[in-house]
Amino acid sequence: METGTLIVKDGWRRSLQRLGTMLLDQLYPPVCLSCDRPVATADTICSECFRALRPITAPLCPILGLPFEVSLGPDAVSAEAIAHPPNFRRARSAVVYSAIARSLVGKLKYGDRPELARFCARLMALAGHELWGVDAVLVPVPLHRARQFSRRYNQSTELARALGRLTGLPVATGLVLRKRNTRHQVGLTADGRRRNVAGAFVAHPDLLKRLKGRRVILVDDVITTGSTVRAVTRALNSGGAGGLCAAT
Ligand SMILES: [Zn+2]
Repeated sequence: METGTLIVKDGWRRSLQRLGTMLLDQLYPPVCLSCDRPVATADTICSECFRALRPITAPLCPILGLPFEVSLGPDAVSAEAIAHPPNFRRARSAVVYSAIARSLVGKLKYGDRPELARFCARLMALAGHELWGVDAVLVPVPLHRARQFSRRYNQSTELARALGRLTGLPVATGLVLRKRNTRHQVGLTADGRRRNVAGAFVAHPDLLKRLKGRRVILVDDVITTGSTVRAVTRALNSGGAGGLCAAT
């Protein structure tokens, strides 16, 4: 009897949700997240924009996740990983930073469009499949308080939360803090980027202790020279965190 009532209630709730979605679709027909062309379902991009996206799949550098043109064998590592060995174990990115990826990230970051994180996280969940595991915790790269206040939200936190819902992994938002408001990395040289974020992050000692033994997966929107991920990793490593990876 009890179970039957619950099923009926659940059925009603689902029907109401479907009706709500249909009404919203009538009022605000879903559009492509990138170019605003009409699409069949919300939180996605149109087929034309999808064709312009360049998802990163094998063959790729097992360390930095950079795509290779041709397979160089299972142990082949990218020249970048050899020239500048990272202080994290692995990084995986969902797509190449092409014009369409830049437009999506720009809207997520500066366009007050946090809902874009749901679409981006779906791509990240696929690309980072080797990283997820029951021992992992997702940690967004933090913004400085002042920047988060003016932007209203942190795009990396939105991505981490959406990714957490897809992978079932917990999200630890307060594990890393940005103690210094750094200038934008865009337009800086690799060395300038490194110096810009050096010492900008600090790990929360108590939270770090509580998460001991868990693998930390940093979540950020973009990885270019990796200087931000390296700076956050340095702060976490000095606090004793282990098994660091990055998903962007
Ligand atoms: Zn489109």
